Amino acid sequence: MNKDFITLTIDKQKNIALIAHDSKKKEIIEWCEENKEILKHHFLCGTGTTAKMITDKTGLPVKGYNSGPLGGDQQIGAKIVEGRIDFVIFFSDPLAAQPHDPDVKALLRIAQVYDIPIANNRATADFLIHSSFMDTEYNHKIINFNKNIRERAETL
Ligand code: PGA
Repeated sequence: MNKDFITLTIDKQKNIALIAHDSKKKEIIEWCEENKEILKHHFLCGTGTTAKMITDKTGLPVKGYNSGPLGGDQQIGAKIVEGRIDFVIFFSDPLAAQPHDPDVKALLRIAQVYDIPIANNRATADFLIHSSFMDTEYNHKIINFNKNIRERAETL
């Protein structure tokens, strides 16, 4: 309990979040279609519009949160903190300003803090989805937040 890091397990059956900015929606749908046989073995969720479009076009069940600009990225970030999302495919648009840019940054940051695999383009998504870890449990080390809080409360 006093360790700096704790070990958490990403299960064999993963909780995958799917997000695409508007110019990338077609691409994420194609990618989901291409990888349907793998994706159907996992739990899928996503920001509202992306989730609905993937389900409509591919038939994969994708639980939808709010639309990204209306807080969907923040909901996904919160689920990462709660340990309920452990894998993210996020086709972001590097060429267009987003109204919810702070939320996008917050999601990337929290994924980094919790050591969550996150792909922000198709090649990375391809490498991730074809990783041998997709079929196994994966243990990773996360900062021990309880210890962190205890120490901060004692020292600040
Ligand atoms: P959307 O949100 O799937 O509701 O379009 C994605 C985003 O822009 O973050």
